[in-house]
Amino acid sequence: MPVRFDVVIVGGGISGLVAARKAAQQGKSVCVVEASDRFGGAIQGQILDGVTVDVGAEAFAIARPETLDLIKALGLGDRVVAPRRSDSRLIVPQGIFPMPHALLGIPTNPLADDVVAIIGIEEATKAAHLDELPVPESWDPQITLGALIRQRLGDQITDYIATPVVGGVHALHPDLAEAEAIMPGITAATTKHGGLSKAAAAIRSSSGVPGAAVNGLAGGMSNLVDALVQELQETQNVELVLSSPVTDVSRNQSAGHIGWEVRTATQKFVGDRVVVALDAKNAARVLTSVPLIHQPLSRLYVGDVVVFAALISSNLLDEDPLGSGALIAPSTPKVHAKAITHASAKWEWVRTAFGPSRHVVRLSYGRDGVINENLDDLARIAHADLELLLGASMPAFDETHLARWTGSLLHPRVGHRANVAELKAAAATTDGLSLAIAGLAGNGLAGTVSQAHAAIS
Ligand SMILES: Cc1cc2nc3c(=O)[nH]c(=O)nc-3n(C[C@H](O)[C@H](O)[C@H](O)COP(=O)(O)OP(=O)(O)OC[C@H]3O[C@@H](n4cnc5c(N)ncnc54)[C@H](O)[C@@H]3O)c2cc1C
Repeated sequence: MPVRFDVVIVGGGISGLVAARKAAQQGKSVCVVEASDRFGGAIQGQILDGVTVDVGAEAFAIARPETLDLIKALGLGDRVVAPRRSDSRLIVPQGIFPMPHALLGIPTNPLADDVVAIIGIEEATKAAHLDELPVPESWDPQITLGALIRQRLGDQITDYIATPVVGGVHALHPDLAEAEAIMPGITAATTKHGGLSKAAAAIRSSSGVPGAAVNGLAGGMSNLVDALVQELQETQNVELVLSSPVTDVSRNQSAGHIGWEVRTATQKFVGDRVVVALDAKNAARVLTSVPLIHQPLSRLYVGDVVVFAALISSNLLDEDPLGSGALIAPSTPKVHAKAITHASAKWEWVRTAFGPSRHVVRLSYGRDGVINENLDDLARIAHADLELLLGASMPAFDETHLARWTGSLLHPRVGHRANVAELKAAAATTDGLSLAIAGLAGNGLAGTVSQAHAAIS
């Protein structure tokens, strides 16, 4: 016999849990069906030498209120912490530099000292001249971010500043990213302000809090998932089902009841409403019986990324030589990682928890969503990367954890906005089905949380 609920939620990441909370607060009976043996999806804590550290999302943007509001509502407001330092570095073949003042790798002034330090005064002057040229009144709506930056600021800024930043944040090369999908309004702003760097400066200063400003939770972001699950279990009428991969979501018309049916290999759940809170790839897989939704979903690009977290005992990291972390240009010789976070430099709670000269670093792999490294050999690769980045020989790692995130990052490649518009139009005309697809509202927790709220009207 199928189990019947008002709302069935497919996927127990933050999105599914937030949607469940809202539906339960409305007095509905709710079930969350999760494939893996834990909730939280891309928010995951992992124990290294007795301390839980984040191996997925580690922070939330504070320019938007959604995540902070949720954290406070769950009673975790006193755990919110600002980073101890947030001065990331840029690693390029020329060396290691402070991150230039920029909007997602678009410098706000190509002649600023921090840009000149990286590409030299000659190239910086060329970039400034390029950006002074007349700006088109209209743009190719599918222009890539790379083409836009190359056109206005030249190849050097694109390759040595924008590429590592976009690659670090979105795991995507700017030459593949649709400019308007990754940065809505950037082409119109370029026209309006008479240049790309001026547009970047205007957008940065118009948002009161810098877009990159983040906070975290002392003890890790996994506390948010634990608090949500605890509340759903203890105070809400929510059935939480683990280790149950959903294979199919389809319309259900039985015994005069019209709704949705959610199937796993062994179970069937029926709901008046179903919320699909999965990454795009898995969502397309389970929605084959709804072609209008399946088709645009299956055209969305997703990327894989690996986070290699390691605990290492060395006083060479005591002075935070990489600041809070670094984004690494693909052209940097021999280094495989695309980014590194020095968690003990970034978060005071990590530093305190492990004590003097014991450091947590997180190296991430997967340029353009493809992992080229042999994962069985990743500990050796990560160790070699760390030595290259620090320019010194390092002791063996004390403890490590490899977290593989498959399909977790939605890639706004060329055609993204057209696919999303088709998907949203189809979803709007499909009664009883809500989509909360990871990354559809941006690859960050703020968009994810607000999208999950919107899935429950
Ligand atoms: C490595 C990494 C670091 C990040 N860092 C940050 C950060 O610092 N700050 C920030 O704001 N954002 C960050 N993000 C993005 C943020 O984590 C995500 O936007 C957010 O967690 C997505 O949540 P979600 O619930 O939509 O999807 P997911 O977290 O992907 O959850 C989907 C869930 O669905 C489950 N599932 C999959 N298939 C099925 C199936 N067939 N049946 C049932 N269940 C299924 C999965 O197991 C998973 O639990 C990061 C993402 C990654 C991958």
